[in-house]
Amino acid sequence: MFRRIVFTLAACVLATLTLTTAQQRPAPVKSARLYVFENGSIRGLDPKLFNFTRQELKEVDFINSSYLIVHPQGTLMFEAGAVEDSHFKGDGAPVTEGIMTATKPLLPQLASAGYKPSDVDYFAMSHYHSDHTANANAFAGATWIVQKAERDFMFSDKPQGIIQPAHYSALRGAKTRILNDEDFDVFGDGTVVVKSAPGHTPGHQVLFVRLPKTGPVLLAGDLYHYPEERTTGRVPTFEFNAEQSKASRAKVEAFIKQAGAQLWIEHDIATHAKLPKAPAVVE
Ligand SMILES: [Zn+2]
Repeated sequence: MFRRIVFTLAACVLATLTLTTAQQRPAPVKSARLYVFENGSIRGLDPKLFNFTRQELKEVDFINSSYLIVHPQGTLMFEAGAVEDSHFKGDGAPVTEGIMTATKPLLPQLASAGYKPSDVDYFAMSHYHSDHTANANAFAGATWIVQKAERDFMFSDKPQGIIQPAHYSALRGAKTRILNDEDFDVFGDGTVVVKSAPGHTPGHQVLFVRLPKTGPVLLAGDLYHYPEERTTGRVPTFEFNAEQSKASRAKVEAFIKQAGAQLWIEHDIATHAKLPKAPAVVE
């Protein structure tokens, strides 16, 4: 009898706990913070695609990353990884798809920081290339922040290029904040700002985040891929509009100078190596 009561009690506690975790959103934070997620690497790229020789680049390979920004007023997920979570077999083995390899799915990393896709209020990507969109469908419950030119291209009849429409098909019906080559101050206090920076794609965008300890940071999307692009002014061969890319770079460089912001080149292995990864917090 006693054993049965203990068992019933334990079951009740367990049920209550499960119910609470299922319903509860993470506690609000007092100041902005950021989590960095690891989405694998890209190896075997041809430097010529980026208008460089092998000798001119310190490092040719890319790292892929995505970010959760948590603000006292809500959350923003930026980028969605390069490999779909559903392609992992659950045996801990890495997944290789063409020149991309990922060792960890995205959503468990988000969970390690204490968040589920349903806790994400806003979702944005720098652009539609498939190394940034893999798990976009998981965030279709959030408000999608996108430039009109980007969205129009993504949902055109047969979009061409480095694009996987199946990655983001659910965004078609998502609540959407459409921008017309303009910036969007996500929480209205200048702390988290999506900034238009077209050229790499028709509606490429970058993200400004003001962190209390780290200071102001600009997540550059693919405005640059290599630090050497910044010093030489060269742009990749496959830009949607190279002149627009150069103009966007000039605009962003002026902005970060004035804001005193660090520039994080998302594909740069050296930049990524220095950042604490989730569940560690960047404050
Ligand atoms: Zn990319």
